Amino acid sequence: MGQANNKGYLEQTETIKTMIQTCIQCGTCTASCPNIEFMDITPRHMWRLLLMDHVDALFLSKSFIMCSSCYYCTLRCPRGLELTNAMSLLKQTASKLKLKQFQRSSLFYKAFLDSVKKHGRVKEIEFMTHFFISMKNPMIPFGFAPLGLKLMLKGKVRPEFPSGGSGKLTALFKKVAELEE
Ligand code: SF4
Ligand code: SF4
Repeated sequence: MGQANNKGYLEQTETIKTMIQTCIQCGTCTASCPNIEFMDITPRHMWRLLLMDHVDALFLSKSFIMCSSCYYCTLRCPRGLELTNAMSLLKQTASKLKLKQFQRSSLFYKAFLDSVKKHGRVKEIEFMTHFFISMKNPMIPFGFAPLGLKLMLKGKVRPEFPSGGSGKLTALFKKVAELEE
């Protein structure tokens, strides 16, 4: 990672560091996390890296991308730390700074949210089509083809014509974006 990027995420992560400042490394967050098997380092380890200013190592890991915002760790942390929000801020930082290793996840989240904003729910085919287009790699859809076919055969996804959507959630999304500023 370049120095400019490094400086960028150091600034962004200072707020997150403040949020987890009183972590006592008890490991309750790790023990509570349902997604731990998909993480390369544990949440407890992540907070330790951040407190020790090892931000590079933190962003080399993809653990925070695996967080599904279930709030278990936040509910169970004995220090009452806002861990789910800290995970979300790490995702936002990676997306804002356009860190290459998180590009795929960022584009996936964006396509997912665009679909929800437009229709009030995910329209799977449209959502995945937008994701594939944003990835600008014609080979990616082939990797998803077996899963897509399986889901269609089981009636879990249906082909639908693209539509403009109701736009009823636009104001809600706008408000959230303002609050996150
Ligand atoms: S549960 Fe809270 S105090 Fe314990 S390791 Fe996790 S963040 Fe730190
Ligand atoms: S909020 Fe994220 S990190 Fe915390 S327990 Fe749930 S999935 Fe794990």
